Amino acid sequence: MSIKPAQGRTWKCYFCGSEIVEGQRFTFTSRGPIHWGCFRVEVANAFNNRIPEDIEVLLELVDYLNEGIVKIKEGEYRVNGDLQQSLINRRKMLEAEAAKLMKELSTLAQSKYNVAI
Ligand SMILES: [Zn+2]
Repeated sequence: MSIKPAQGRTWKCYFCGSEIVEGQRFTFTSRGPIHWGCFRVEVANAFNNRIPEDIEVLLELVDYLNEGIVKIKEGEYRVNGDLQQSLINRRKMLEAEAAKLMKELSTLAQSKYNVAI
C-alpha cells in the first residue's frame, strides 16, 4: 500500500527505524508502517526462515500489487487532468486489494500457524 503521509508528516518504519520515502514500497501491519523489504525479513524471522508455501504465495501477490501501486504513482506525476484522475482511481483499487490481502495473510498466519505477523 502506498497511501501518502499527511502533509508535512513522515513515516518511520517500525522495523528498521528509518524513514519511508516516496517511491519506496511499504505496507502497514497492526504494528504500523513498515518497508516492504523489512516486512519480508520480519515474516521470515517469524517463521524461522521456513515460510510456508501458502504464506509465500500471498506475499508474492502483495509484492506484485505494491509494485503496481508505485508504478501507477510514478505515472500520476507525468500526466494531468482526466488521465491523472483515472490513474489515481486505479491506484486506490490496488491499494484496497493489497490491504485485503495483508489482512488475509495475517489471519492465515495466525489461524493456521499461530504466528503473529
Ligand atoms: Zn524498514
